[in-house]
Amino acid sequence: MRALNDPNVILRSTRLVDAFVELARIDTQSDEKSPAWPSTPGQRTGLEAVRRKLTERGLADAAIDKNGYLFATLPGNRKGAPVIGLIAHIDTSPDYSGKDVSPVAHANYQGETLALKNGVTISPEESPWLTQCVGDTILTADGTTLLGADDKAGVAEILAALEYLHANPDLPRPTVRVAITPDEEIGRGAEKFDVERFGAHCAYTLDGGFSGEVNGETFSADSAAVAIAGVAVHPGTAKGKLVNAIRWAAAFVESLPPDESPEKTEGRQGFYHPTRISGNASEAKVSLILRDFELGKLTARGDAIRRLAEELRRREPRLGVTVEITETYRNMAYWLKDRPEVMDRLVEAVKLVGIEPRVEPIRGGTDGSGLTAKGLPTPNIFTGGVNYHGPQEWISTRVMAQAVCVTLNLIQLWAEK
Ligand SMILES: [Zn+2]
Repeated sequence: MRALNDPNVILRSTRLVDAFVELARIDTQSDEKSPAWPSTPGQRTGLEAVRRKLTERGLADAAIDKNGYLFATLPGNRKGAPVIGLIAHIDTSPDYSGKDVSPVAHANYQGETLALKNGVTISPEESPWLTQCVGDTILTADGTTLLGADDKAGVAEILAALEYLHANPDLPRPTVRVAITPDEEIGRGAEKFDVERFGAHCAYTLDGGFSGEVNGETFSADSAAVAIAGVAVHPGTAKGKLVNAIRWAAAFVESLPPDESPEKTEGRQGFYHPTRISGNASEAKVSLILRDFELGKLTARGDAIRRLAEELRRREPRLGVTVEITETYRNMAYWLKDRPEVMDRLVEAVKLVGIEPRVEPIRGGTDGSGLTAKGLPTPNIFTGGVNYHGPQEWISTRVMAQAVCVTLNLIQLWAEK
């Protein structure tokens, strides 16, 4: 094995940054209100651009299926090595504009506050990782859009790794399967992913944060819908008869444990989060998301919602209250613990670059959560991006190249199995 640890080698010998900038300019924002696959036509334009690049890099079978999943294969050169997958998503967040993205390169960064259009600034005080990037080239948007490093950095890093392998065919490698997925930001990325057709032993998403971060653990997530039926009566003659569903919906929200909310928790703590309340005097509905790292604790949160609903009915027997709890995704750690080599090799690949791995739980889900639950173990690798989903998003090209080194080391480690 020939471990890669010099990001400059990648920056000199691949079109990593050019490919990223080209993809960043394509508007691939996803749209949760759209029922289409992919949810927006711009994603197909982005996928088509990636498909051409994959073909150039020797992945002759690159093709986009009807749902907007781009799959491709780089045949291996080590008989018997397990097939490994690399995955990134083409869409950008609906939270902020991704139209007419104009990437700006801040060369030889010296620790200053970066000033963009519209008074947008990115300072080392607010974004401390910047202090580790002195001398780097920092890429940002121009202040009017997000950058889309989430996750076009991941896409460009996969392309650069493939470009390097194409130019160095003697480097030991298993067969590598590549997937570029649509609609990750609206939670649909794993939904129509054909795990069987992908045919990998395990896979890695490149969809993480700053240098060194790897993730083998995500939240387990459920959603809860609490439907409250009151008794509607004309307010002029309502005395003793009206049971106002709006007031009881408010009482329900008020009864949630105040300290177990997203705004008061961090690290491995879970929460209840009311996301929507709607209705009128006769009926109201409260939607919540429930999050925890332990499945037992998540189940307990669902039970607590049912108890609080029961308590409403005890206080006002004329109310109708029903609770529906739906599974959203599960902590990938449940499956990864049975396949420890999947994370172990990732950690080893990071160390070979000379970086201390930070194994962190994600307070959210990834495409990998859904894929792992579907039988494809898929932890997550850093891409270098910081301040996702807004105009302050930035990425260092050196850290991008480190992610490519990690990917190339990982591929070689799997070739040795
Ligand atoms: Zn992402």
